[in-house]
Amino acid sequence: MDAAALCGLVYSDRYLQHNPRNSVELPFVEPTLHPSNYRLVMRTKHLLDLTGLAQQLTLIEPYSATTDDVTAYHSPEYVRRVREICAAGGGETGEGAPAGPESYEIALLAAGGGMAAVDAVLGGAVRRAFANIRPPGHHAMRDKGMGFCIFNNVVIAARHAQRTHGIERVLVLDWDVHDGNGTQDAFYGDSSVLFFSLHQDRLYPTEYGLLDQQGAGEGLGYTVNLPLPAGSGDAAYLAAFEQIVRPIADAFEPQLVLVSAGQDASTADPLGRMCVTTEGYRRMTQAMVDIAETHAGGRLAILQEGGYSESYAPYCTLAIVETLAEQRTGIAEPLTAERLLARPETTTVGPSAETAIAQIRDVYRTYWPML
Ligand SMILES: [Zn+2]
Repeated sequence: MDAAALCGLVYSDRYLQHNPRNSVELPFVEPTLHPSNYRLVMRTKHLLDLTGLAQQLTLIEPYSATTDDVTAYHSPEYVRRVREICAAGGGETGEGAPAGPESYEIALLAAGGGMAAVDAVLGGAVRRAFANIRPPGHHAMRDKGMGFCIFNNVVIAARHAQRTHGIERVLVLDWDVHDGNGTQDAFYGDSSVLFFSLHQDRLYPTEYGLLDQQGAGEGLGYTVNLPLPAGSGDAAYLAAFEQIVRPIADAFEPQLVLVSAGQDASTADPLGRMCVTTEGYRRMTQAMVDIAETHAGGRLAILQEGGYSESYAPYCTLAIVETLAEQRTGIAEPLTAERLLARPETTTVGPSAETAIAQIRDVYRTYWPML
């Protein structure tokens, strides 16, 4: 299969118009750009263009999610509040989720970008898709924005797949370094969506993503939190995939696989303290491709979430898209072999990560005895 049939790419330059304004101003120095500024998504698109990879993919035009789409999770009052805040020139939509005047429209376009990726893989236009969208979504709660996120793109995409395409079982995996608290909240009582969150233990938000949060009612056991200790690298992430994610996914048999892809677990990220390299992202993507191929007819959509190293994160995303498209551009890992050697966590599971993974396995064996 050629790359265009294998992989779609959702993108619009309009995504650059979401402006969360300058970050907190520090004394005596000039203000810096907000961490969730336009540059990650823009530089990612440039890298995909300049390597020639984007031109081999099927470009998917995003559309705006409707109020009906967004209120599949968010309250109508919150959606109206975001619209009003933006119409008044911008402001805070909740906790740490600032909006500019364009942000309401662009957040609807981000949610619609995830939906367009789902439409493309479920409609058969492509087998897999990457949505290079912003603002991100996974922290957004029903009634408020949080952590740079306004509308929860992956939740809206999953509900769209169920409501419009008749999909019953959706697997959502979140490898952003922060916990996907909004996604957890949306599906907490729901056994039709299996949610995995791999994140740095108690980074943000500290009250979510804990090991004792395992779902409730019918959804008990279907929220799988994998809090990993700071400093975990490729080896620990892959061990968690192998020992926990894959066996549970095999038992669940998803009909669609979605990924909340934060490249802020990268070894160069200023907000996270994890050590995942481009190769780690490549192998995590391959693991998700394998799950989708085994159970979901290959149907996999990956949605951009966080990532704050504007120099390194685009290369992680390149590795993700290369894997989806089964192409290699020949662009090497930016870190030299010497610098990788100074990161033993890329090849070795450290003792604290090993203990954490063993503990997670013990806890979830209650619901998933194959672990
Ligand atoms: Zn994040």
